[in-house]
Amino acid sequence: MRALTKVGFIWLLLGQAIKLSIAGTLPHIDIDVRYREQTALLEVSASTKLTTEHGRFFLNKDIPITRVDGLTNVKVTDGSNFRSFELTDESSGLIKLEYSIDLRNKKHSSGSGVAEQQNALGSADNAFLSASELWHPLFNGPFTARVTIRCSRSLSSIAPGMLVSDTVSDDVRTRTFELKQPTLAIDLMFGRWEVQHARMSGKSREIDLYTYFNEGNSSLANEYLGLTEDYILFYENLIGDYPFNSFSVVASPLPTGLGMPSLTYISERILKYPFIKNRSLPHEILHNWLGNGIFVDYQSGNWSEGLTTYLADYMVTELRSEPEAREMRHGWLRNYGSIEASGGEETLSDFSSRYHTASSAIGYGKSAMVFHMLRRIIGDESFKSCIKEFWNRYQFEIAGFKEIKRTCQSFTEYDLSSFFKNWVETKGAPRLNIELRQNENIGDTVDVTQDGEWTHPLDIVFEGRSESETTRLLVSENRTALPRKTVANAESIFVDPDFHSWRKLFPEEIPSTIRDFIAAKVTNYSQVDTRLNIESSLNRYFLENATQSITRETKPLLDKTPSIKVISTQSVESLIEDGEIELQLEALHHLEFMMLASKVDDNAILYIAVDDNLGIERIEAHIARARHYGKYSWLTINSGGEIVKGKQKISPHSFPIR
Ligand SMILES: [Zn+2]
Repeated sequence: MRALTKVGFIWLLLGQAIKLSIAGTLPHIDIDVRYREQTALLEVSASTKLTTEHGRFFLNKDIPITRVDGLTNVKVTDGSNFRSFELTDESSGLIKLEYSIDLRNKKHSSGSGVAEQQNALGSADNAFLSASELWHPLFNGPFTARVTIRCSRSLSSIAPGMLVSDTVSDDVRTRTFELKQPTLAIDLMFGRWEVQHARMSGKSREIDLYTYFNEGNSSLANEYLGLTEDYILFYENLIGDYPFNSFSVVASPLPTGLGMPSLTYISERILKYPFIKNRSLPHEILHNWLGNGIFVDYQSGNWSEGLTTYLADYMVTELRSEPEAREMRHGWLRNYGSIEASGGEETLSDFSSRYHTASSAIGYGKSAMVFHMLRRIIGDESFKSCIKEFWNRYQFEIAGFKEIKRTCQSFTEYDLSSFFKNWVETKGAPRLNIELRQNENIGDTVDVTQDGEWTHPLDIVFEGRSESETTRLLVSENRTALPRKTVANAESIFVDPDFHSWRKLFPEEIPSTIRDFIAAKVTNYSQVDTRLNIESSLNRYFLENATQSITRETKPLLDKTPSIKVISTQSVESLIEDGEIELQLEALHHLEFMMLASKVDDNAILYIAVDDNLGIERIEAHIARARHYGKYSWLTINSGGEIVKGKQKISPHSFPIR
């Protein structure tokens, strides 16, 4: 989910800088397409005016052009994956191209470093063509367009923009979409949908809402129309007027989801799930302001995913429940911890698009946390004013972190320069600590230290026997001293116990999860009180990398290698009683299988309990099932096949004060 059509990314692939200023008139493209569903062929005719100001466009190099009309003074040059058409003199005029694209032959095409994503699909029932295929003339900046789409009447079509006509004659359905607002690229979709419509009153215009759902999802249409209206109203209040005339939720046969101006294309298999309704939908709706309304200056870092994650996924959660919001913030830090260990970290100014776990931990997680810290520095009201003003100043323009900084700076006295420099242009995160010092001049102090000069608001909680007190510091240096007498009765100190700062977690803040073992580079295998050997089953159905069996191991073991300990279900109860593992006894009724990720003296151990009397096939089925529960700390499966699962509580790190 949540992949914005990677349009800005196209320019990076082309090696072209997107134009930073949108002054003057924009290029305009007229596109006529006809989809032939029996052969999955898309016939295209596209015309545009080349001028001295907008004298060059690009098209996919592999598209065979059958006819060119109009301008003759155009130079055609081939690049690595594109063909460029460029005016050779000061003249101007219309150029019209005709070509056809076979959608069946387009499979998982993707540029270097971009996640494998299906950009095209063609069948008798469905078709999809992403702008990343460079299927229409593309300028190196925003343009306006009018797209007329024809297909057989049994299908329907949709493109971004406003639907201005929809007619059927001679078994051909013709729909025309107008893209009056500047846009970066155009995707096309065809399908057999049931269309539902509602109209809402936005702040400055009437907005048409549509669902294009397949039969299996049609009962969800009303719910989606209602939610869409709620989210649009919410963001109109938070940011400003919704910038388009319509919004459509379109069911997709593809597994991934995409957002584009005025519509989102979501897998038909997941529309029913709450996380789509509560997170993906507001996220994609918000991209109409952030990403498709204000465009991203990709060369200085993609801020739109982080800000959208913060104002959609996060804010919707925060409004519902602070404990859930805390868990989300903790999740960002935890994800960072796992990529930090494996390398591959980039700065926010280098992040352009999500293409692996590491880039999403930064471009979504870290970026969202940076906006969270910014909000805590300048305050709620100023933060909201800044978001509104950012929209006022830059809608349908291109902006980067620099413009965000400049806008927010006008709402605070605090100089934001080092804050933005720290978090946008630098990799890494502070490791925080508390040191108690004796100081002759100012008396004893409690010093908050960090390895670097990171600027962030930091909560320090002093906990006494009966009460606790929170102090919020704005730290920006290696060491910040607090007089100890202000907290005379405190017995322990907690640093950022609610995860409001981008930082390295303390070991006890990282709960063990089953996934840690699935993904471990190497694990030790041992059996304690069972004769059942399941090592090869674990290697086949559970682990990404093979175990090393300690009984066979001759080399010295790697320090801190996670261990897997296989025990018998009969011994689980005594381990609980001995305090070696923590689990509720109720989860143990008719126990057939248990997995529990735990830590003993900082060593990660995965206990796997199996019933010795079970056949190996049934055990392997349990092991394969457990693999889907990676984010949990423990799970049990009883003889009825029921799964009970849970997560370890996150306990903040405490420093004693004496
Ligand atoms: Zn997104």
